[in-house]
Amino acid sequence: MMMTAADTHVSPIRTVEQILAARLDGEALSDKDVEVLLGATGQHDLELLFSAARTVRARAFGDVVFLYGFVYFSTYCKNACAFCYYRATDGASPRYRKSIGEVVEAAGRLRDSGVDLIDLTMGEDPRYLDDPDALPALVRAVADETRLAIMVSPGVVGPGMLRRLRATGADWYALYQESYDPALYSRLRLGQPADRRIRAKRQARRAGLLVEEGLMTGFGEPLSSFARSVSALRGVDAQQVRVMTFVPQAGTPLAGIAPADSLLERKAIAVMRLLFPGKLIPASLDVDGLAGLKGRLDAGANVVTSIIPPQTGLAGVAQAEADIDNGARTVAGVADTLELCGLVPATPAQYRAWIEGARPAAPAAPAARAGTAGTAAGPEARPRLAVCEAGA
Ligand code: SF4
Repeated sequence: MMMTAADTHVSPIRTVEQILAARLDGEALSDKDVEVLLGATGQHDLELLFSAARTVRARAFGDVVFLYGFVYFSTYCKNACAFCYYRATDGASPRYRKSIGEVVEAAGRLRDSGVDLIDLTMGEDPRYLDDPDALPALVRAVADETRLAIMVSPGVVGPGMLRRLRATGADWYALYQESYDPALYSRLRLGQPADRRIRAKRQARRAGLLVEEGLMTGFGEPLSSFARSVSALRGVDAQQVRVMTFVPQAGTPLAGIAPADSLLERKAIAVMRLLFPGKLIPASLDVDGLAGLKGRLDAGANVVTSIIPPQTGLAGVAQAEADIDNGARTVAGVADTLELCGLVPATPAQYRAWIEGARPAAPAAPAARAGTAGTAAGPEARPRLAVCEAGA
C-alpha cells in the first residue's frame, strides 16, 4: 500500500522556548511537551521555564502562599515500601506513637505560629487502622482545638472511614502513588496494588474530601518514565499535586542509589504549575530543609509543607531530623525566604476560602464547623483566592 504524506507526517519537536511561549498564550501542553520541559538543560532554558511557572502562579494566586504544619504522629507501619525509612521490616528506625494530648498540643503550637493547615500523617499503623474510632477521634480533637483546615495521611483506608474522617473535620486526604509507571511502582510500593490506591482517592472525593497526589523521582529512572507519571496527573482528580526527590535511607532496599540533586524535582514543580495553574503545589522542607525552599518556590510552588514544631520529638519523613529542632522548619524560619521570593503567607481565612471553592459537592459533606466560612461549591467550581487576580 502506498503511504500518503499524512501517514508519514511527524510533528516536529518544539524547543523549550517555543513550548513556553505557546503555553503562556493559552495553549495546552502535550505529553511530548511535558517530556521536553522536564529534560530542559542550560541556564537560559531553565530560567525561562521557572519564570513561566512563576507567571502562571501569579495569574492564579497573586503573591500568596499557604503554610502547612506537619504532625507525623505515628511512625509505625505494616507496609514495606522500598524507599521508606519507616518500613515495617526496618527494625532500626525510631518508632513512636504520640498520644492525642501530644498531637493536640503540637497542633496548637503550629496554629499559634501561623500555619493554615494541620497535616496529620501516620504510617499504616495497625493500632489506628484496626480501631474505627481512633483516627476520627484524633481528627475531631485537633479540629476542635485549632479550627484549622486538616489534611489526613493515614495510608489506604475504606470509604466508610473516609466519610467519618470528613465528618469529624478532615478537609484533605493525601495518598501518594509515587509513580504511574507500573514497573517502577511495583519496585517502590512492594505488595500494594496500584489500583487500590487509585480507588481510595476516588472514594475520598466522593466522601467530600479534597485529594493530594504525590510523585517521587530520583531513582535513576529514565526521563520517559517520570514524564509518563507527570502527564498521568491529568487523569487524577487531585486538588494538590506534589513531587519529591528520593532521599536514600540506610537499611532499605534502595539505600545504594546515588542521591540526586533537586533539579528534576524543581523542573517538575514548574511543569505541574504550567499543567495545573489553579492547583496547590507544595515546596517541601522535607528533602533539602530550609536551604532548598527558595529554589522550589522560584519554580512555581505555592504551599510550604513540613513545618514542624521544634523540640516535640516529631519527625520528618524523607529527612527524619534535619532542620527540625534548630527551628528552621517553622513559620518564623521560612519568613525571610518568602520575602526574598516576593511572597506573603495567606491567612487561615484566605486558605479556608480557597478550599471551600475547591470542595466537591458530596452528599456526605457535613455542615461547616464552627469558626469556618463558606459553603460547598459544585465540582466544576474553579478554586481561586479572593485576593488573587484573575488569570490562567
Ligand atoms: S511510605 Fe508510608 S506506607 Fe510505605 S512503608 Fe513508609 S510509612 Fe509505610
